[in-house]
Amino acid sequence: MSIQAIDRTSVHRLTSGQVVIDLQTAVKELVENALDAGATNISVKFREHGLEEIEVEDNGRGIDKEDWAGLALKHHTSKLASFDDLAQVETLGFRGEALSSLCGVATLSMTTSTSPTLPLGTALSFTHAGECVVGGKVSRSKGTTVKVERLFEQLPVRRKELTKNAKREMAKAIELVTAYALVKTGVRFEVRNILKGKSQVHLQTPASTSLRANFSNVFAPKSLASLMDLDMTLEVPTDKTVIKRLEDAGPSSTTVRITGLISKPSAPHGRPAGNRQFYYVNGRPFAPSKVAKAVNEVYKAFNSNQFPVVVADFQLAPDAYDVNVSPDKRTIFLHSEGNLIACLKEALLRFFEPEKGTFAMQAI
Ligand code: ADP
Ligand code: MG
Repeated sequence: MSIQAIDRTSVHRLTSGQVVIDLQTAVKELVENALDAGATNISVKFREHGLEEIEVEDNGRGIDKEDWAGLALKHHTSKLASFDDLAQVETLGFRGEALSSLCGVATLSMTTSTSPTLPLGTALSFTHAGECVVGGKVSRSKGTTVKVERLFEQLPVRRKELTKNAKREMAKAIELVTAYALVKTGVRFEVRNILKGKSQVHLQTPASTSLRANFSNVFAPKSLASLMDLDMTLEVPTDKTVIKRLEDAGPSSTTVRITGLISKPSAPHGRPAGNRQFYYVNGRPFAPSKVAKAVNEVYKAFNSNQFPVVVADFQLAPDAYDVNVSPDKRTIFLHSEGNLIACLKEALLRFFEPEKGTFAMQAI
């Protein structure tokens, strides 16, 4: 056997498939780019459940001409210049991998305009290696529309899998957009699927000003009555094993504020059906298996019949977590996670304690 380098095109395809792992990540990256561009209006359009096309249109700042060439090149980003900036980064993207990876696993094109007055933009298309091909002028207002055609065409096994589960995969992607529609105030979201020429609306929210209003727009307004506002501040002891090397140099605790909504254990009816748990770290949706498990466990002590509806944003200091863990950024490494969970459980027990009487009364 001889060791040899894999050719560049193959490397690009291999690594791209790790960043864009499914339809949900593709949509997530595009929606996050729209949010990072300051959009207040984001419209997601699937064609045939996203199999043929995913299109995300925004009214954000648009993309300057001098940035077109580097847009979809690997590790080209306007958001981060060096590793040291990572702790301060406030944008959802920072690695400059999404557009490059989408080029590697699909056909990418866009139209963009930075002009607030002239309704004229430019069409751009991209090669699979991420090189930009500048097209003609198109009529469009300020903002960007990104089109992804035939996702995973270059990865036959994944394409087949996506085709087989298209409906479910689209539902997962919509769940992610829903997570953003709930947590972002001042942004209007719309999701449609064009199926055999017919357009179906899956999500439509106005730009409202509060989490409660967002919740009511996304789900049924009547479900609001069964929700309590969540706002707790935890003083979480810093796990010394994490900062052992620093010889106790760091602070002995870190403040975590949790805001959001949670269903009353005493209101078993009127909650929306299905999985309704949305967790965020500083407004970024994440998949918090251990945190969610802890919340469900405490809730069970007050209501053994159902899982709670939860929308919870964990506001953490930038140095208390690391989002650069997995290529899709959905796994977040929380420092002192065990301590955080212990504090959270205790705080939730206290939070629900007044509810206990109500529920017991109802149960009788
Ligand atoms: P990242 O978001 O990590 O920077 P991406 O590959 O997602 O990497 O995007 C590369 C760059 O393209 C971004 O840094 C941004 O400058 C620009 N960009 C992408 N999408 C948009 C958009 N919808 N509006 C404005 N700029 C965009
Ligand atoms: Mg991005």
